[in-house]
Amino acid sequence: MRTVLVTGGAGFIGSAVCRAWAGAAGWRLVNLDKLTYAANVESLADLKPLGTFSLVEGDINERALVDDLLRRHQPDAIVHLAAESHVDRSITGSAEFVKTNVVGTHALLEAALAYWDKLPSERKEAFRFLHVSTDEVFGSLGPDGYFSETTPYDPRSPYSATKAASDHLVSAWHHTYGLPVLISNCSNNYGPYQFPEKLIPLMILNGLEYRALPVYGDGQNIRDWLFVDDHVSALKLVLENGRAGQTYNIGGRAERTNLQVVHAICDALDELAPTAGRSRRDLIAYVKDRPGHDRRYAIDCAKIENELGWTQSESFETGLKKTVAWYLERRDWWGPLRTVAEQRLGLR
Ligand code: NAD
Repeated sequence: MRTVLVTGGAGFIGSAVCRAWAGAAGWRLVNLDKLTYAANVESLADLKPLGTFSLVEGDINERALVDDLLRRHQPDAIVHLAAESHVDRSITGSAEFVKTNVVGTHALLEAALAYWDKLPSERKEAFRFLHVSTDEVFGSLGPDGYFSETTPYDPRSPYSATKAASDHLVSAWHHTYGLPVLISNCSNNYGPYQFPEKLIPLMILNGLEYRALPVYGDGQNIRDWLFVDDHVSALKLVLENGRAGQTYNIGGRAERTNLQVVHAICDALDELAPTAGRSRRDLIAYVKDRPGHDRRYAIDCAKIENELGWTQSESFETGLKKTVAWYLERRDWWGPLRTVAEQRLGLR
């Protein structure tokens, strides 16, 4: 059985990783998570009865704690998802982003290297450090073209700058010390269990409650939407079959403007939770744009498709419908989080 130390496994993507790998895949997972505002232990409730999963509350910056976890659990891999992840928050307060995304990743790399150095040669060979990053490190695209694994870095927000720095650190730990790392850069994820400050859950919940749907700027910014479980299946392939030292881009091949996304949510809500004579599209309100708002992201994911045989199981339409249906059913999960996500951040 594979043992994996996951960081940030109580967040949106991390919890999907934990549910899939400690559940169906039957791996032994140790989840180190600081349990910030973005974490939710309810996302891991189904894993409680499983003997394969444990949650440790702590910061990736706590070197003694990380050393102890590595010594006691002897993982075959570290999958690093812990991060401050919301661009608007990074504009309002960047310090936590530097602390976790840059300094924390450095601390984790140092602990991983010290652990890896002492492994017997066969386990050393098989060990992997998978760093989960974002396409935002590549900057903003014009109307044409795609981000590939060789696109130069050009981060523009405090969030993406800290993620870019962490990617460079991870890469340096491979080139300088030989640590067998993998880096994945993915596009915008969506799906169940996403904290309702992010675009898709925020619009679903506001639409459900007939509140304004705030669209930044002209609504024409384009993102490439990736269903979270498809991302998790990609991460598993990268971890199992990716070549050490390589980067893999993971995208949804589903470019949509923000306005198209909001329209699709309105239409799904009108179908799944209709109210006579009222269309949610009437709730759309254009608001001041995010400073430095990147115009377009789009990923060329041919490498992971061709090299590792990754395919997606959801189209944007099927994934979004599943997501809307999940939020309609799981008021128990998102109800307590609504007030935390209420305030608009990231304006200057
Ligand atoms: P999230 O904000 O939902 O969860 C982050 C988790 O990390 C939380 O559980 C939080 O408690 C934990 N955490 C924060 N600081 C920590 C620290 N110092 N020590 C330990 N744990 C800490 O994030 P997410 O959306 O699940 O994203 C996961 C990873 O994927 C991040 O690295 C993010 O940059 C990357 N990513 C996310 C997206 C996306 O669309 N959500 C897209 C591309 C890349």
